[in-house]
Amino acid sequence: MILPEIRFDALSAGFAVIATERAKRPTDYRSAQDEGQELPETDPKCPFCPGNEHETPPEVWAKRQDGAADSPGWTVRVVPNKFPALVARPQDAGEDEAWRVPPFPESLEGSLYWQGPGVGRHEVVVESPAHNGSLGSYSLEQMKDVLDAIKRRLTSIYESKDVAYVQIFKNSGKIAGASLTHPHFQIIGLPVMPSVVVSEGQRLKDYESKTRRCLVCDLLEREAEKDVRVVAKSDRFLVISPFASRYSYETLIVPTEHISGLSEMSDAMTIDLAGVIVQLFGAYEAMFSSLPYNMVFHGLPSEVKTKRGWPCHAHIHVYPRLNTAAGLELGSGTYINPTPPELATREFIAAMES
Ligand SMILES: [Zn+2]
Ligand SMILES: [Zn+2]
Ligand SMILES: [Zn+2]
Repeated sequence: MILPEIRFDALSAGFAVIATERAKRPTDYRSAQDEGQELPETDPKCPFCPGNEHETPPEVWAKRQDGAADSPGWTVRVVPNKFPALVARPQDAGEDEAWRVPPFPESLEGSLYWQGPGVGRHEVVVESPAHNGSLGSYSLEQMKDVLDAIKRRLTSIYESKDVAYVQIFKNSGKIAGASLTHPHFQIIGLPVMPSVVVSEGQRLKDYESKTRRCLVCDLLEREAEKDVRVVAKSDRFLVISPFASRYSYETLIVPTEHISGLSEMSDAMTIDLAGVIVQLFGAYEAMFSSLPYNMVFHGLPSEVKTKRGWPCHAHIHVYPRLNTAAGLELGSGTYINPTPPELATREFIAAMES
């Protein structure tokens, strides 16, 4: 295997992972899901379906009713990605230079060609044995088990000294970047702090230093007051259509209690979040026969937050991919969204009530 490389782009302050192995990954998308066709409950060719456990690397965690590791009987299963974007340092690599991520240069000139080995983690959380499962169709218990698996792996991956930030995300649909239809989340442990997280962290820090308040807490308070973009609320979470939604039907799921990372969620909070996700995606699934989307978790564990000096209020972005990021979006970071978020909110509420 060729070790991936992570490179810094001095112009945009973003990173790129150059990972040639990723080109070899299989896909089962012809356009089945994108055309809204019904998926079977099991697909004998799918590496994530029960009975095909030998087609993935050995599981790192599973919730099981019965059966031995790497055999059927699980309800949620976590495996390393077979075609990882970032790879775990082998146990025998020790202090081998090839695996050392160089410190980020202090000088700007030094950052022009910063690069390091693509060391980190890349895991897949298979959400359900059902090939045709979806976030809107799960029982509360199933969704909670998925969130618990994510929380567990998040905590464990942050313990690795090669990992600076853990990104949890879900790609659903070919346009949204999924290569396999079987529902799954992905967890990537990055050796660097990515620019989107840096930017959010600095916004929160600036806001706090001027107002002594949390930007996200303030936003939640205003949205609850105005009540024109509140899609759903539970005891512990609020779902809103962001004021400047970049994508049609974009939503933001936020805990009303100020917590900085998902790993800080109590059991009660996790159950509540499971209910909110199932309710929200039930609405998405009622409104669209097939919806490509990305789901992105943002949060920082307390140690990382303290080390960076950033405040953080955990949240989850849902980006439906009905409109495509094109030239204006790439060039200027300005998105054209044909759906007013206030209208999207009313449609979500109607879908939840029917
Ligand atoms: Zn499957
Ligand atoms: Zn807050
Ligand atoms: Zn965010």
